[in-house]
Amino acid sequence: MHRRHRLVAVIVTLALAGFAAIAAAQHDSHSSSHSAAVTSAPPKAAAPKAKVKETKEAKTAAIVEPDARPWAQLMSGNRRFVKGEHLVTSTRDLRNELANGQHPDVIVLTCSDSRLSPEWIFDQPMGEVFVVRTAGNLVDPIALGSIEYAVEHLHAKLLVVMGHEKCGAVAAAVSGEDMPTENLDAIVRKIRPGIPPARANASKDALLQDAIEANIRRSATDCVVASPIVREHVVHGTLAVVQAVYHLQSGEVEELGNPTQLSDNDKR
Ligand SMILES: [Zn+2]
Repeated sequence: MHRRHRLVAVIVTLALAGFAAIAAAQHDSHSSSHSAAVTSAPPKAAAPKAKVKETKEAKTAAIVEPDARPWAQLMSGNRRFVKGEHLVTSTRDLRNELANGQHPDVIVLTCSDSRLSPEWIFDQPMGEVFVVRTAGNLVDPIALGSIEYAVEHLHAKLLVVMGHEKCGAVAAAVSGEDMPTENLDAIVRKIRPGIPPARANASKDALLQDAIEANIRRSATDCVVASPIVREHVVHGTLAVVQAVYHLQSGEVEELGNPTQLSDNDKR
């Protein structure tokens, strides 16, 4: 649990860094950042448990810890998936019900890899997960706009940024090879600057895993820093951001700790 709180702190720090940068830029151009604050409905059942923390950086905005329950539900589903004990089947009744509207609590940004289907991995029915998938779980303006839509209009409470072992997009970026088209090159160009320096005596697989984890953190940071809507909801505790890596063989989803843990965690 304390690990999760550290992650929230990291994300909130990122959010505030971005928030401060935007606020400073807007101050310079004589406009008010606070007038642009996003208003949205609070999480359906989060209020009684919410804890408020004051920080120096956020004099005007209290940071509210987000509702941890959507992530706990996903992890329960993942444990079922790992054991091969799926509960979820999508029925005709559910399809009919969902035809009237969607209210997903969760957004998953993940890789387009055919093995990464979030509904399977988290054992969730149709209508529960708003999914954004791109090779390498990268965000561009369209992917971010999709996430913003789910946050602002569908009131999703959790954004999971999930990469995976042996990601081909990250491997292509690590290889340094030229890509045959401009579009493929755009993918590796986005990943390459975030590849961490190679550790001495690390295997090729371990270095790829380092790059995969760094890429997940980079995408999560991009979501918070590049989207005013995501940032506002993180700061106000109406959206949690979780970084995770999916293990292809076991089916397990592993939550990643904060960035300073990366160099210590070089077992894989
Ligand atoms: Zn991938």
